[in-house]
Amino acid sequence: MVASAPLPGSTHGSPSEVVIENLVIVGSGPAGYTAAIYAARANLAPLLITGFQRGGIPGGQLMTTTHVENYPGFPDGILGPELMDRCKAQALRWGTKLVEADAESLDLSSRPYRLVTSEGETIWTHSLILATGASANRLGIKEEERFWSRGISACAICDGATPQFRKEQLAVVGGGDSACEEAVYLTKYGSQVHLIVRSQSLRASAAMADRVLANPAIIVHWNREVLAGLGEDWLSAIRLRDRTTGATDDLPVRGLFYAIGHTPNTELLQGQLELDEKGYLVTRPGRPETSLEGVFAAGDVADAEWRQGITAAGSGCQAALAAERWLSHHQLARPVERQNIEPEPAGATEPTATSDAGNFDAAALWQKGGYALRKLYHDSEKPLLVVYTSPSCGPCHVLKPQLKRVLDELSGRALGVEIDIEADPEIAQQAGVTGTPTVQLFFNKQLQQQWQGVKQRREFKAAIEALTAASA
Ligand code: NDP
Repeated sequence: MVASAPLPGSTHGSPSEVVIENLVIVGSGPAGYTAAIYAARANLAPLLITGFQRGGIPGGQLMTTTHVENYPGFPDGILGPELMDRCKAQALRWGTKLVEADAESLDLSSRPYRLVTSEGETIWTHSLILATGASANRLGIKEEERFWSRGISACAICDGATPQFRKEQLAVVGGGDSACEEAVYLTKYGSQVHLIVRSQSLRASAAMADRVLANPAIIVHWNREVLAGLGEDWLSAIRLRDRTTGATDDLPVRGLFYAIGHTPNTELLQGQLELDEKGYLVTRPGRPETSLEGVFAAGDVADAEWRQGITAAGSGCQAALAAERWLSHHQLARPVERQNIEPEPAGATEPTATSDAGNFDAAALWQKGGYALRKLYHDSEKPLLVVYTSPSCGPCHVLKPQLKRVLDELSGRALGVEIDIEADPEIAQQAGVTGTPTVQLFFNKQLQQQWQGVKQRREFKAAIEALTAASA
């Protein structure tokens, strides 16, 4: 199936056969998946490295967005994570091979190019599409570490539903579309939202800006910068400086959410490809070719200006077409033979039903809700993995299938429960959950370990295996 040629030292493929991929795509935002869809339909069997913890989460920035209302084809809008699920399903349907890992290093000094993943796998490829996107910036105030997940967050969409923010004064810093979207979103939870803007205008699109300015629950503080975070165990106020007068004042808030733009994820490319002064990949004007033969760029990693889902998708398409032409021109493409001219429909996944006395199943690997949690916590003798999620949290969306895979691989030696903190805020409060996703591992009614954010499968598996081994 896969294009192959002998090459010493490769660890990808069986020991007797090493593989040089036609095309490797790094990144799983709209740019990466669109490139994959086009390349897969061109029978190139592209391999897509989704990314995992480096540079954000798989699925990219749309995973931390709520409603995407400007992506053509969805007249009523679509949730960012759902849009990315659909892109992924479409890429898979046409034969994209997914590697759920980070790209740890890249060697572009000679062809074929070499990439090592965070799982230790070495992958060789004739061509490469870099679609690694950009990561959320931080303010860098002194108290950031102390209050991280204790009032300060980079993702209002993930953490807004946290009980500690309910009916409290909250602040968002930034003046772009993200800041406006997050400010509006937080009005669902906070009593009042303060938007801290460093200039006297919003950079956001007119539609977003109008929504903010017309919302009585949002107060915009113009020309203000955040100097410090104040509080004991949890953020209780922020110190602001008026940039026109220099005066400072303290604004009592329980939450401070960052939405101050992004930095391109080009760390791995330093010294290997031409980058501009801000670190963005330099391409030929209006084209996807980078400074190296066979290496193409798509999406925000090479776009400091437009940065939209739809422009990223468009540039992913260009990059795939350019890669296909380049491979053909150099007679490197080894197309796969498609077994089915029409691949099977992608299908839809059914959401897990919330368990109650009627449908609770003591042996089910994965259940949802407070009923299942109480029953398993009290009655089950197995390790119990509890994941706290919120409905629009993109990282939760990424983590859940990973946890389910861990439980599958452990064949019933541990069980899992999902708690939606919006549906069960009192459970989240009792558990001391300060953001989503949070995972807690219980055994013998004791909390054994806790994780925040998206983590590798092997971390959960090792923790559960250590418990089961110790009790055997
Ligand atoms: P942007 O770069 O557009 O905006 C960043 C904002 O943060 C600017 O207002 C900037 O101020 C401010 N800022 C930057 N650094 C600081 C700092 N140190 N202190 C205070 N403020 C700071 O980023 P976004 O994440 O908002 O948007 C990225 C892209 O994604 C854009 O193209 C946007 O249109 C798109 N997007 C679209 C959405 C949608 O359509 N649903 C939702 C979210 C994003 P200044 O203006 O003074 O430079």
